[in-house]
Amino acid sequence: MGDDDFQHQREQLIRDELPQLGIRDEAVLQAMMSVRREDFVDDKNREFAYRNAPLPIGFGQTISQPLIVAYMIEALQLAPHERVLEIGTGSGYAAAVLSRIANEVLTVERHPKLADSARKRLKQLGYDNIRVFQSDGTLGLPEHAPFAAIIVAACGPCVPPPLLQQLDLGGRLVIPVGEKQGSQKLIRVIRRDENEFKHEELGFVHFVPLVGEAGW
Ligand code: SAH
Repeated sequence: MGDDDFQHQREQLIRDELPQLGIRDEAVLQAMMSVRREDFVDDKNREFAYRNAPLPIGFGQTISQPLIVAYMIEALQLAPHERVLEIGTGSGYAAAVLSRIANEVLTVERHPKLADSARKRLKQLGYDNIRVFQSDGTLGLPEHAPFAAIIVAACGPCVPPPLLQQLDLGGRLVIPVGEKQGSQKLIRVIRRDENEFKHEELGFVHFVPLVGEAGW
């Protein structure tokens, strides 16, 4: 499949399908139009890059479904000057989308091989406002906190307390919470004040487990 075919499929998914499914935030749609999802999947999955579906990226992990990436990023309500923390780099796709909206993205992956390949891929593709860290993301990145927004791409049993503490005042955290294999809900937490957090439920989702000290 050539670049033109991918371009056409990208437009169809992002300009037709996603708005029909409720994604209206122009900044998110524009960012997704500028990131080539086909560059974030294995050769054997390239032809499926613009299906609105998760795809395997090795080690039992997946690149998230485009609708979910859009929905979560929309829920973060990012402003262009803000710094975002992502937990669960995976392929680096969502980090790339975030980097087209926010000023800087710090992203954490626990799996060393996935962290390495995402770092290489993002560098090669020219995303120079993303830093990839290899560590347990349930602990966040205390040395770089606070963050205006935190997005977690794996599902934990609860909202990891270290992430709440690393949110800036007015900061937003979007994370799936629930059972390992069963029912999971997407949650948004807004830090209203030092000790005041507002929790909202955004709907049912399905994610791989968040494995770590404050996860499973
Ligand atoms: N955002 C990714 C999707 C990642 S899937 C993309 O766009 O491709 C979830 C990822 O979270 C997996 O790569 C998994 O290894 C990682 N993960 C699970 N637990 C983690 C933890 N405690 N810290 C960091 N990453 C974690």
